[in-house]
Amino acid sequence: MQQTKDHIAVWNSCLKVIQDNVSAQAYKTWFDPIVAVKLKNAILTIQVPSQFFYEWLEEHYVGILKKILKKELGQKGRLEYSIIIESGSTNTNPYTVKIPATDKNVLKNPSVSMPIDINKDTIRNPFIIPGLKKIKVDSQLNPLYTLDNFIEGECNRLARSAGYAVAEKPGGTSFNPLLIYGGTGLGKTHLSHAIGIQMKERFPEKIVLYVTAERFQSQFVDAIRSNNKNDFVHFYQMIDFLIIDDVQFFSGKEKTQDVFFHIFNHLHQTGKQLILTADKPPIDMQGMEQRLLSRFKWGLSADLQIPELETRIAILETKIQNDGIKMPKEVMEYLAYSITSNIRELHGALVTLLAQSSFNKRAIDLDLAKQMIDKFVKNTAREVSIDYIQKVVCDYFDLPIELLKSKTRKRDVVQARQLAMYFSKSMTKSSLAKIGAHCGGKDHATVLHACRTVNNLIDTDKQFRGYVTELKKKISID
Ligand code: ADP
Ligand code: MG
Repeated sequence: MQQTKDHIAVWNSCLKVIQDNVSAQAYKTWFDPIVAVKLKNAILTIQVPSQFFYEWLEEHYVGILKKILKKELGQKGRLEYSIIIESGSTNTNPYTVKIPATDKNVLKNPSVSMPIDINKDTIRNPFIIPGLKKIKVDSQLNPLYTLDNFIEGECNRLARSAGYAVAEKPGGTSFNPLLIYGGTGLGKTHLSHAIGIQMKERFPEKIVLYVTAERFQSQFVDAIRSNNKNDFVHFYQMIDFLIIDDVQFFSGKEKTQDVFFHIFNHLHQTGKQLILTADKPPIDMQGMEQRLLSRFKWGLSADLQIPELETRIAILETKIQNDGIKMPKEVMEYLAYSITSNIRELHGALVTLLAQSSFNKRAIDLDLAKQMIDKFVKNTAREVSIDYIQKVVCDYFDLPIELLKSKTRKRDVVQARQLAMYFSKSMTKSSLAKIGAHCGGKDHATVLHACRTVNNLIDTDKQFRGYVTELKKKISID
């Protein structure tokens, strides 16, 4: 251990590595404001400007911080945060709280962030609390990922209700295994925890265990290394309801697949419930043994899709309410309209916005949101969406959006609809057919006609031209 270094030197070494590994913008936002305050007993304390910072760091940079600290401070290296509590007035002597990087962390998201305490348990039965006669297994479930918090929408209806059915009757439905698949950030981890929580509540005497495929694999490797393969297998065969997250991680890892195959068979034959998640359906999984794939298909495969606008709004609304955040409705809607990729990005944008506002001491308004989206979510949200265009146009003319999407041919609605089509054509990459489908189920010819009409009116009608200029300004993200 290098006891000679002080906190500044250690933190500077961390910063050097971080700088090479994150974007300049991310570095400026999340690392510049941090001040290292002390180093004692291999615990480095850093001061962060707000709770958001702490959470953001824990969620996104815990892996890299952990590695560097281990290198700098040895096996015992740990990180503690000191958070400045804002009191309104300028405070030269900020009140600080210490949050060990471990507890909260585990609670928040056990799959992403392992405690920063680097001492890895020597793995026998990793979840068993030693010294207890009756075996007790920590389910590793995140209490925040409940079914109630998992907003229902078209995008997740099948998976959610299958999950619900499984939780009511684990092992007793034909959904065994239940395989939940879908792209990143669409809620696989959340939903699998939620089912686990529900099962645990209904059947408290049963052993429920959530584990990521990655962790399963690393435990297996450790078990082999220390000659404990049997312990490992027995441990898993004892679980009543087993949840394995991101099974695609097993791809190409034959030994792990083999051991999992046997555990799977044992559990399935004894009527235990298996819940698996994956980033794609079994048919598209590469590097996975056929016998395992065929078992994945025994039960039900249910997918999670990208949430539709209404669901995105509902998810943000719930999050904002649960976290007690105050934010104008238009800002929330703007986020939901702009971020269409996945729910993690949606939450990420919200957190970034809050951080920006708290750090720059600026109110959360549409301007700040636009700037933030522009800076941080470039790749996913640079292009405005048809939904957003429709919303801005409707707000401008004070029309309900349903009218614009309806078949009505009332003059003012027709004009607004044509404008929405015109802007969708000029400001998004959507096809004419897609634009038509979004605007009251019209075909591509109607959209073309609308664009021509708008162009004609721009040339001939001064008032109309004014509308177009103003609307264009409102719609532009830049
Ligand atoms: P995945 O495992 O598919 O990558 P996660 O389960 O980690 O995705 O979800 C990413 C984030 O989105 C989490 O914060 C989760 O709580 C949230 N989330 C996903 N789906 C929903 C939903 N239907 N309702 C509320 N929050 C959701
Ligand atoms: Mg996940």
